[in-house]
Amino acid sequence: AMSNLTAKAALGRSTWHFLHTMTLRFPDKPTPQESETLRSFFHNFALLYPCGECAQHFQRLIKELPPQVGSRMGASLWLCTVHNEVNKSLGKKEFECDKLDESYDCGCGDDPKSKSK
Ligand code: FAD
Repeated sequence: AMSNLTAKAALGRSTWHFLHTMTLRFPDKPTPQESETLRSFFHNFALLYPCGECAQHFQRLIKELPPQVGSRMGASLWLCTVHNEVNKSLGKKEFECDKLDESYDCGCGDDPKSKSK
């Protein structure tokens, strides 16, 4: 039904927004603990994402392209690549990953974790 497709797209958009904002806020030089937290986050996320078809697709994707958790840039570009793979499979156009920084702002510029954004 149309309403199901609309709901699936809305869930996808808000989830991607959250995920990109999160990786862009990941530390440039994470501790081993922070890297492990991000790695297990994506593993668990892939198991729990509410759209079952999407979750299975994402589980296959991250098996091929394991999350890069060594730095903010690595994690952000990895997620951009994975999102582009999903875009491709849905017939959507590719996003230019060098536009990530200007596209996402968490609105938390003055909190204690903040650097520039
Ligand atoms: P979205 O893909 O939701 O993107 C939202 C916005 O993010 C875009 O408008 C653009 O500004 C920006 N953006 C686009 N590409 C990138 C990128 N590579 N990096 C950074 N920013 C970008 N739907 C299905 O029908 N089948 C699936 O198997 C499926 N799997 C999914 C798996 C996951 C993990 C998620 C989160 C969603 C999945 N979806 C799936 C939903 C789908 O990806 C879209 O979210 C949905 O179709 C709405 O698309 P959209 O055109 O609004 O843009």
